[in-house]
Amino acid sequence: MDARRDEATGRQNELDAYGDFLRRRRAVLLERIANAARSVGRDPSEVQLLAVSKTVDVAQVELAHKAGYLTFGENRPQELKRKVGAVRQNPSLADVRFHMIGNLQTNKINQVLGNADLVHSVSSLHLAHAISTRSRTRDVVTPCLLEVNVSGEASKSGFDPEHIVQVVDEVMGLEGIALKGLMTMAPANNKEVARRTFEGLRLLREDLRTRTGLPLPVLSCGMSGDFEIAVQEGATLVRLGRIVFDPAYEDR
Ligand SMILES: *Cc1c(COP(=O)(O)O)cnc(C)c1O
Repeated sequence: MDARRDEATGRQNELDAYGDFLRRRRAVLLERIANAARSVGRDPSEVQLLAVSKTVDVAQVELAHKAGYLTFGENRPQELKRKVGAVRQNPSLADVRFHMIGNLQTNKINQVLGNADLVHSVSSLHLAHAISTRSRTRDVVTPCLLEVNVSGEASKSGFDPEHIVQVVDEVMGLEGIALKGLMTMAPANNKEVARRTFEGLRLLREDLRTRTGLPLPVLSCGMSGDFEIAVQEGATLVRLGRIVFDPAYEDR
């Protein structure tokens, strides 16, 4: 009996300690984002912190929500759907939102529509058309970002920057899609290349704004290893996973 109670108490203490970690870490991250923003004369409130929850479960999402996070990123449609379903069972999590940040195949779109507030990873016209069609069927408008392969790495998905003007022209005309901006991923472990990648994304956005008149307010870039550089180069949304959730994550 007592052993079982001790075990339950032990587990509760562990959760409390993890919740404390999440809260302290969040304060540090918000401070670092704010400092990076101010270092280039930006207003820190322009930058949203998305907590990438792909490696943790609903219990940790709940603790992160208690620590102050409201928006979470998932990279697999099925996991997104599962976590959204679990969160909707819990009235205290009613203000939790999810974004889809990972590779999306057309046959998985229905798991994402209605479950994600923003799809970061529209990486082909085929996918854009499919999202448009399914969204119209459901009578919804899906906010989307176009993923751009700014760095040109063969392993990365996303549109070629050379084609992005024609792509935006076409996607602008699709019903059921609200085009909100651009997303990119930088190559890991090279800060100089990361900076050029994020700068490239910002310049593309400026060019597209001028050409199309679309405001394209969202620039989604920056992860655990490079988010301050991303903020300095104009990110409005950083996607942080390990540095939010993993106490063992080694910085810099
Ligand atoms: C996992 C993931 C992230 C977060 O990466 P971390 O390095 O853990 O911060 C951001 N964006 C995408 C698309 C991801 O898949």
